[in-house]
Amino acid sequence: MEKDCDFITSIFGSNVFNDSVMRERLPKDVYKALRETIDDNKPLNPAIADVIANAMKDWAIEKGATHFCHWFQPMTGLTAEKHDSFISPTADGKTMMVFSGKELCQGEPDASSFPSGGLRATFEARGYTAWDCTSPVFIKEDGDNIILNIPSAFCSYTGLALDKKTPLLRSMDALNKQAISVLKLLGNTTSKKVIATLGPEQEYFLIDRSFYQRRLDLILTGRTIFGAPSPRGQEMGDHYFGTLHERVASFMNEVNHELWKLGVSAKTQHNEVAPSQYEIAPVFATFNVATDHNQLTMETLQKVANRHDFVCLLHEKPFAGVNGSGKHNNWSMVTDDGVNLLDPGETPHDNMVFLVMLCAVVKAVDKYAKLLRASVANAGNEHRLGANEAPPAIVSIFLGEQLTGIFEQLANGTATSSKISGELKLGVSTLPRLPKDSTDRNRTSPFAFTGNKFEFRMVGSTQSTAGPTFVINTIVAETLSEIAAELEKSQDVKNDAQKICRRIAAEHKRIIFNGDNYTEQWSQEAKKRGLPNMPSTVEALGSIMDEENVKVFEKHKVLSRQELAARTEILVEAYSMRINIEALTMLNMASRQILPAAVNYSAGLAESVNAIRTAGADPSVQKEMLEEVCDLIASLKSGIKNLQISVEKASKANGFEQAKIYRDSVKEAMADVRSAADQLEMIVDADLWPLPSYAEMLFIK
Ligand code: ADP
Ligand code: MG
Repeated sequence: MEKDCDFITSIFGSNVFNDSVMRERLPKDVYKALRETIDDNKPLNPAIADVIANAMKDWAIEKGATHFCHWFQPMTGLTAEKHDSFISPTADGKTMMVFSGKELCQGEPDASSFPSGGLRATFEARGYTAWDCTSPVFIKEDGDNIILNIPSAFCSYTGLALDKKTPLLRSMDALNKQAISVLKLLGNTTSKKVIATLGPEQEYFLIDRSFYQRRLDLILTGRTIFGAPSPRGQEMGDHYFGTLHERVASFMNEVNHELWKLGVSAKTQHNEVAPSQYEIAPVFATFNVATDHNQLTMETLQKVANRHDFVCLLHEKPFAGVNGSGKHNNWSMVTDDGVNLLDPGETPHDNMVFLVMLCAVVKAVDKYAKLLRASVANAGNEHRLGANEAPPAIVSIFLGEQLTGIFEQLANGTATSSKISGELKLGVSTLPRLPKDSTDRNRTSPFAFTGNKFEFRMVGSTQSTAGPTFVINTIVAETLSEIAAELEKSQDVKNDAQKICRRIAAEHKRIIFNGDNYTEQWSQEAKKRGLPNMPSTVEALGSIMDEENVKVFEKHKVLSRQELAARTEILVEAYSMRINIEALTMLNMASRQILPAAVNYSAGLAESVNAIRTAGADPSVQKEMLEEVCDLIASLKSGIKNLQISVEKASKANGFEQAKIYRDSVKEAMADVRSAADQLEMIVDADLWPLPSYAEMLFIK
């Protein structure tokens, strides 16, 4: 036991050039200067970059590394890396191992094949990567290939953001700036910085690789586009938190070890609701680091799954009829001196801060609900949101009974009573004191207050945490800046802060909903309250360029109009491309696998009808079966034709027009093809059926 503990503490972070390694390996003044850059956002002195690079190289080589790379996050939502070896040949035919400060700080990858949404023409190939020293450098082991990874931002030749990290970092700056000024106005004299924190819970499926290899849909699209329901699904409720299957437990064990080496603080693991669905969550970290770590987590899950003859499916909806996968983004703000601004706290002073911060979030979420919705819009998540299992496509906030009580009192302007005897007091000058674990849970809410943080549950399992979270940072920065502007003019800050909270509560209470978000009544009620409901991705993306969104991003210098427009274009195009790939995969499988199997089966039935008749018996049952199969074959065949026509039509359009054709016409045609194919699966001889079934994939390990 003792040995195990030692082992874990010794491997944790062993592949990270973290603070303790820096302190140990860098000259004191260099270490200090680098820390100032990391902690106080001071520009990095180029003179020290060579020293840092050299120390990193020595450390990496000791760990067996031969190469380095700038590790960045282009608009694909994935990570990108191009490896360079440390070798520098010398005149005598040998080599030195070299890594310069310039190589550490800046890379110039050919950027022409990354999505840019028109920010960069193909002939303008040059792009830059820039070392993000706020996220630690690490070593990645891919088989025998050991690489020093430099987390980096990625921009165009003209300095426009081409990645997820740049706006993420800009949004952290914006939030910091506004939150600090509000804190100062409220009398805080000690905090220097406010940092956004993030703890993403990651859901995923594991299935046996042998099944995966026989399903072109899983291989090419990450989800099953055919498949009759399994006779048993998740209705028994026995998978959630159930005992881990031994093979899965071994997989998780190895995932944890790999992540710990990378300094990712993998903490919780469990069976999720659907059969073969699981979840992993780390201890929360700074938003920036947490985003890098979530990317590493997704990559590690897939890599380690392979070693165990599993495949890890990260898609938002790999299987129809059972739950899909999300990513719960737990978000808060913490000061550099350790105060969680969303912690209700113990003292009235803290509570004042808490209440102002809470109101800032509530206002932001109500005002920019469409933007939040758009931040989680992709083709995969479209199967989830609003599909009676995940949060609906309507954004609302769960505050829990006690906070809602306070909120209602504020809104009515009579903030003097307490909801739970003795515990909660809210007067004009006394702000509430809340017991720590006072909030109940509500699993159906898209944006839930969970004790000392908010949990944004609409995020899709494949998505980078960057996009949805930089939206939260930006819109909260905006409402905080509005509060700061008012407080700056105030003669009586405490009183005016309460007035502001009261006004926000009155104006934005419509966004608070503590009930069951999955019900039809809620969508009716939400409509009455005037809350937007956008189940379709295209519609959600269509609202990104609304003037108020452009304004908020530009004001806080997170994205320019041009950058936002480019991003929108990329997202719309990605939606169309995804559905196009799904449609083409469907056509391929339907024509080359499913139709032939059904025809084969019908031929056998036809033969048996004849044989039975010749033998003088009654073939009517076989004939009925044959007719049923033939009818379905006919539907499948005409469905295929329709789908071909729709795909052809879509291919001639572009932009939003094209995305709408994919949504309305292609997806509908796909549903018809699937319906015929899934019905055939239920009647065709299992030995002839070319694809592993849902029951096999979800239940066999
Ligand atoms: P749940 O019960 O909601 O499934 P989990 O334990 O799976 O909770 O995940 C909760 C996540 O929230 C963890 O990653 C945790 O570290 C994170 N978290 C806790 N406090 C904060 C905070 N102040 N800021 C951001 N994330 C937080
Ligand atoms: Mg969880």
